[in-house]
Amino acid sequence: MAHETVFSKIIRREIPADIVYEDEQTLAFRDVSPQAPTHILVIPKEPLVSVADAEEKHAALLGHLMIVAGQIAHSEAILEDGFRLVVNAGRDGGQTVPHLHVHILGGRPLSWPPG
Ligand code: AMP
Repeated sequence: MAHETVFSKIIRREIPADIVYEDEQTLAFRDVSPQAPTHILVIPKEPLVSVADAEEKHAALLGHLMIVAGQIAHSEAILEDGFRLVVNAGRDGGQTVPHLHVHILGGRPLSWPPG
């Protein structure tokens, strides 16, 4: 179970967010501190802490997050030039919000490897 986070508050509409997509299982909104011209977070409404907490029963949900991310990349017109999906996990992974999220980054060339 995840703790209460800023993302739980966004799901409950207790704090504002620029929401770009929602369905029964997921919510997507623009990152408040964008690292690229397009920077959107896709989160499950179910409060999973990180991908490391996912179990086999979450397989369809994780797949759905990827499908939604691709659809959003299409609607943001970054499919042709390309984009990156990032899932940070834990301290060394740079995860700062303990609620699983997929970053969609695009709109500029992205370097590799990440810092
Ligand atoms: P991570 O470092 O992978 O845990 O990513 C957390 C992301 O959440 C960061 O990119 C933050 O800028 C973003 N973030 C934190 N608070 C908010 C918020 N209230 N609305 C939108 N994005 C947020």
